[in-house]
Amino acid sequence: MAGIYAHIPFCYTRCSYCDFYKTTDQSLKSSFINAICKEILLQKDFFNIDYIKTLYFGGGTPSVLTFTEWQIIFEYLRSNFDFTQIEEITVEVNPDDVTQEYIKGLHQLGVNRVSMGIQSFHDAHLRKMNRRHNAKQAHDAIRILKESSVNNVSIDLIYGLPYMSWDEWNRNIDLAIDADVQHISAYHLTFEKGTPYYELLKKGKLKELPEEVSFDQFEILVKKLESAGFENYEISNFAKPGLYSKHNSSYWTGEPYLGIGPSAHSFDGKIRRWNVRDLVGYSNKVTSGKGFWEDEILSPIDIYNERIMLGLRTSKGFDYEFINQLTNSDLKVFAFREVEKQLKFGNIEVVDGWCKVTRDKKFITDRIISDLFYVTED
Ligand code: SF4
Repeated sequence: MAGIYAHIPFCYTRCSYCDFYKTTDQSLKSSFINAICKEILLQKDFFNIDYIKTLYFGGGTPSVLTFTEWQIIFEYLRSNFDFTQIEEITVEVNPDDVTQEYIKGLHQLGVNRVSMGIQSFHDAHLRKMNRRHNAKQAHDAIRILKESSVNNVSIDLIYGLPYMSWDEWNRNIDLAIDADVQHISAYHLTFEKGTPYYELLKKGKLKELPEEVSFDQFEILVKKLESAGFENYEISNFAKPGLYSKHNSSYWTGEPYLGIGPSAHSFDGKIRRWNVRDLVGYSNKVTSGKGFWEDEILSPIDIYNERIMLGLRTSKGFDYEFINQLTNSDLKVFAFREVEKQLKFGNIEVVDGWCKVTRDKKFITDRIISDLFYVTED
């Protein structure tokens, strides 16, 4: 079993907080379509396994693609990989791209899950983030999706916005619950280098929220969503029972995946690979047969750090026995010592042999992970 991630690097506008790889130059679309189809051909033997379980189109904004462009990509994918046992095909969409016809077209191609970047139901926030949709379009898109045959819908919210009041955040959560969707992802704003928000932060025109305010926002989010029947199965992800994102869950459990498109990452169980983060360079290199990625073989320390990070972000945690099986003795001594320390602080607990972050320490998950990280001098 394995998953494919396809990066569609086009957006019509740039959101002020976003550091995903994207371009607003739509004239590059046709060369991108040619290149990604060529990459599909080149990568068809990437996996030593028989079939694809999940397919995820992220970006960028995949919903800028036309139906004809989707048809071409799907045709290449289906003729080069085995989709007979596919369980989940997700497409990320922007609310103002959602029409009955568009969603019907995606469904005809096999899409059975849509992830929509709403971020906030307040127009003032959306304008400040330079989102291209408004709150009404978000509500309309939810209605269209719920009336469609794609009956597995995820929406994204953002919190930790410096200008968002407590009441506004509560209203966003309530509206997300009222939307009656299957899945909600909620991410705290981060000021990433190279984004407009990072520049505003540096100039003192935006301020990071005090940690206790962020904590309260996270706490009310978890409380309200759990009361509404969602399970907080990963620190930023909430789903109705049985409706976890299969694709993202496979990342967190270390399954292999192939990433296609500029900036996409791949993992075959031992080697991590990442495509060039430049659309023109990617397209030229793929079509001319030149190397378009870099890679690294994961060391036992990389594997340990990754397992800790991914596991502790999920509600299941990581298998405690994994520490026992470490073969690097320095790493094993370190891991046991740090795990014991975190257990003593009440930051983590072991349940049925799995080590996970305790409920009231969820908000400091990143800090706990960083304490458990094994860092070498070189
Ligand atoms: S639409 Fe998505 S990928 Fe594009 S700029 Fe906004 S957040 Fe980034």
